[in-house]
Amino acid sequence: MTDASLSRFMGGPAPGVEPSPRAALNVPGRNRVLDALPAHERDDLLSLMVRRPFNAREVVLEAGQPIHHAYFPLHGAASLLVYMQDGEVAEVNTIGNEGMLGLPLLHAVDRSHTTAIFHTPAEAFVMTAADLQSALIRGGALAQTLQRYANGFINQTCQLAACNRLHHVEQRYCRWLLMTHDRVGRDSLALTQEFLAVMLGVRRATVNIVARDLQRSGAIRYRRGAIAVLDRRALEERSCECYAIIRNYYEDALGAAPPDDTPARQGRAAAHGSHAYEVRNPAC
Ligand SMILES: [Zn+2]
Repeated sequence: MTDASLSRFMGGPAPGVEPSPRAALNVPGRNRVLDALPAHERDDLLSLMVRRPFNAREVVLEAGQPIHHAYFPLHGAASLLVYMQDGEVAEVNTIGNEGMLGLPLLHAVDRSHTTAIFHTPAEAFVMTAADLQSALIRGGALAQTLQRYANGFINQTCQLAACNRLHHVEQRYCRWLLMTHDRVGRDSLALTQEFLAVMLGVRRATVNIVARDLQRSGAIRYRRGAIAVLDRRALEERSCECYAIIRNYYEDALGAAPPDDTPARQGRAAAHGSHAYEVRNPAC
């Protein structure tokens, strides 16, 4: 079957995938799952959580190991990694403050199939797996909200599988950077080209060429260990459609993100440590 006949067989472009102009994927300092809960239920959950920072490269889930905690990021982004028997590693998904790390717990599975690391410095609310499962059993809106998020996450997984198969590395580089920029809330991202090469599954030299072109165009500026986002609009124009489509998945799942008035959107460094959540637990 030729590509053209396959296209006819598949019915051409999927309907409804044309992204509409909307705000960013999420707003740094807030977690969209927690934001989607009724206030009283969110407050009850927050009383069971500890708010803590994480270092870049910190491992929070290990493949094949029990899941002891669930993580609701506020800032930062995590990569889900799959290791092959020969030691090769591939990023299969990313999670930020639109969701939760430890999703198997929702499905009564207490082990992780993937390894999860924060690929940037991060901050998250953390609760024990036992407390999360007790909260799910008590009922309320949490289970349904996490189910909706899980559906968005599955959609994202499918989209990224197609993206990694079909889209050019520069498009994927821009998509990856935009999603991380949304989640981190700073214009300066502590990332190396070598790390991006691993995450994108391409050679370091290929990533260097992409980064050089983007820097020449004024979209980014990079130096050793840091990439600065200078022109988001340019990155959006050079990204594939997957960035906007994934953003729309989470809007469908969790509602529109709150208006993003963080300084990062204005081209300045964001002030972290948002006081958006009142936490009753003094340990938090
Ligand atoms: Zn794509």
